[in-house]
Amino acid sequence: MIPSRGYHERILVTGGAGFLGSHLCERLLDRGAEVVSVDNYFTGSRTNIGHLLANPRFEALRHDITFPIHLEVDRIYNLACPASPVHYQHDPVQTTKTSVHGAINVLGLAKRLQAPILQASTSEVYGDPTVHPQTEDYWGNVNPIGLRACYDEGKRCAETLFFDYHRQHAVPIKVVRIFNTYGPRMHPNDGRVVSNFIMQALKGEPLTIYGEGQQTRSFCYVDDLIDGMIRFMEAGPEHTGPINLGNPVEITILELAEKVLQLTGSSSVLERRPLPSDDPKQRRPDIGRAKAVIGWEPKVSFDDGLERTIHSFRSRYFS
Ligand code: NAD
Ligand code: UDP
Repeated sequence: MIPSRGYHERILVTGGAGFLGSHLCERLLDRGAEVVSVDNYFTGSRTNIGHLLANPRFEALRHDITFPIHLEVDRIYNLACPASPVHYQHDPVQTTKTSVHGAINVLGLAKRLQAPILQASTSEVYGDPTVHPQTEDYWGNVNPIGLRACYDEGKRCAETLFFDYHRQHAVPIKVVRIFNTYGPRMHPNDGRVVSNFIMQALKGEPLTIYGEGQQTRSFCYVDDLIDGMIRFMEAGPEHTGPINLGNPVEITILELAEKVLQLTGSSSVLERRPLPSDDPKQRRPDIGRAKAVIGWEPKVSFDDGLERTIHSFRSRYFS
């Protein structure tokens, strides 16, 4: 146990320069913590955390979490891992290493420090789900040898490691399963549907619909998600999870395209593309557990969140 320094809690955020990580660092700093971001900048960027660098309570380290790291911190949020299919399939072996070796390294650190550690897991552990909406006790339907497996199975193995470190070494763990989240600072070219559609609409290019566009997703605004992560981290140690965090409002990809066209005022057309292999047909979180344990549910409406995201993309890339 770290002796109390009598001042700010020091918190490690791996993947701190990514989309979610940069919002998390910002929120933790606002709450008075000292924050150490560890990132290898594979999909994240220093631009995402540029506005935090002048804060004396913030520190950014370049490091790949597939290698051990030695730090003194009070809490750990493990977010390092590319999240978009285009990025995580670019170097699938490294994706599995990041999830699995990365988990072993951060769990080793948490074990030595006996520090609470939160894992950013994913709805992808449910694969192409046969249970709808997805509850935490559903074990999933994942193709172990498909193109998405490096991410899905990597994240599933990371969950296994978290629970084994908890049972075997009494590490205080927190596992959150994050459903599709969107907002400012998403990578403009990472191939995820919300950033793709907004960029395409703002450039006047066709919106690329994979398959018939009848597959569904449920999109959560980043501020809501970060709120849920911090609340769960701060819930009692008996609450290990896994816990779903996401917005239960479900829409088809075609509906999303129409909404983006309406909110951007774009006259882009829709263009069909082949459906990627193993693309889940439907996804919606059951957030009953999050409501019961941390009193959490999303507050930002989809229209409001999309407008804020479109505004930020306009000013960042088109002004
Ligand atoms: P992101 O790609 O923007 O951020 C990931 C960050 O991790 C980047 O800054 C990247 O450079 C860093 N990183 C990757 N490999 C690393 C390594 N080996 N060592 C150190 N840093 C490394 O993605 P995001 O959307 O911010 O996702 C953050 C986490 O949340 C990921 O673990 C992801 O699996 C999880 N998640 C996100 C979503 C979502 O919709 N955004 C959904 C489910 C789960
Ligand atoms: N998708 C699409 N057009 C795009 C990008 C994605 O139709 O330009 C679809 C994709 O096939 C999937 C859904 O949108 O069904 C969400 O894709 P994303 O990559 O954002 O996340 P994930 O599949 O991991 O949920």
